[in-house]
Amino acid sequence: MQAFHLAQPTMLLDALAIGNAADTKFIAGGTDLMQLLKDNVETPAQLVDLEGVGLSQIRADASGLRLEAMARMSDVAAHLDVRAQWPVIAQALEASASPQVRNMGTIGGNLLQRTRCGYFRDTGFNCNKREPGSGCPAIAGENRMLAILGGSDHCIATHASDLAVALTALDAVLELRRAGDAPRQVPITEFYRLPGTTPQIETVLRPGEMITAVIVPPSAAARNSHYLKLRDRASFEFALVSAAVALDVRDGTGRDIRVAAGGVGTRPWRLPEVEAALRGKKLNDDALREASSRAGEGARPAGQNAFKQILLRRAVLRTLQTASA
Ligand SMILES: Cc1cc2nc3c(=O)[nH]c(=O)nc-3n(C[C@H](O)[C@H](O)[C@H](O)COP(=O)(O)OP(=O)(O)OC[C@H]3O[C@@H](n4cnc5c(N)ncnc54)[C@H](O)[C@@H]3O)c2cc1C
Ligand code: SF4
Repeated sequence: MQAFHLAQPTMLLDALAIGNAADTKFIAGGTDLMQLLKDNVETPAQLVDLEGVGLSQIRADASGLRLEAMARMSDVAAHLDVRAQWPVIAQALEASASPQVRNMGTIGGNLLQRTRCGYFRDTGFNCNKREPGSGCPAIAGENRMLAILGGSDHCIATHASDLAVALTALDAVLELRRAGDAPRQVPITEFYRLPGTTPQIETVLRPGEMITAVIVPPSAAARNSHYLKLRDRASFEFALVSAAVALDVRDGTGRDIRVAAGGVGTRPWRLPEVEAALRGKKLNDDALREASSRAGEGARPAGQNAFKQILLRRAVLRTLQTASA
């Protein structure tokens, strides 16, 4: 691990000011970043520890849910209002990592965790995301876990966060702050970038900018939401495929339909083709099957991961059946 300077501010404004310096990164729970530092995948000169700045409130009221960036994954998953009004969030968090990681891991850190692509995490290999222009060995190599949607000739790494998939289905908004700038809000559906020719740039965050909170609007669909995660073993494992569904059904007809998928895309993947096939329709089993057969239109499997196309459709169908039952 390369030596770094550790700043430990106790005020948000100080953290933002220090975070604006060159070659500096924020550190929250450290559950992802510490591993990357130890493996020399990340080598910042300075870290800004966010532990002392507060930002750990979870607030739910009629205007919606506000999760501050340093709220722990376990606290959010256990929060009674989250479980009742936005169950897909609690379910996605409980399907993530392990209790120990969830006790340390934060909401902001979870959304900004790096991909689990093995080539990215091993400096013995080339990787366009780690070293731009060096190549992508995954495209012709080990790609069973990697993305079938949103990839480019430069990178097909999967986005790893379960929470981000749930928040994508709920149309969450991220509150961002940078020293000297007015706070801004960005919908999560516009926050993550496709890899294109610059896979090293993963989000629209500006240098020195921080996630301060996640805002989730209230909705009838959110109250009737569900997360399904399919993986190689039952716990402590990243998704092969996951699905998040939020449904507002009245008199058997789908009014508000939100469907997102994880484990398949280079970013959390919304499935508008499935939503459109169900909106305004009677949600009987035939309709759910027909709609889920459209999931993942335009997918480009890489060789070892074509099975994800079928698994995605089945995961979406099962999640729709559960949420509409
Ligand atoms: C063994 C293991 C299994 C796991 N399994 C899963 C899983 O199944 N599903 C899943 O979703 N996740 C999984 N994870 C990932 C885990 O959820 C993340 O490591 C954790 O959420 C990261 O949060 P953190 O607070 O520790 O972030 P850190 O490690 O502190 O930071 C992660 C990144 O976010 C940046 N950052 C942190 N907070 C902010 C902020 N507020 N603003 C701007 N930048 C910020 C940091 O600079 C860093 O780049 C697993 C992790 C481990 C170690
Ligand atoms: S898929 Fe992306 S992260 Fe993985 S090796 Fe290729 S460029 Fe690197």
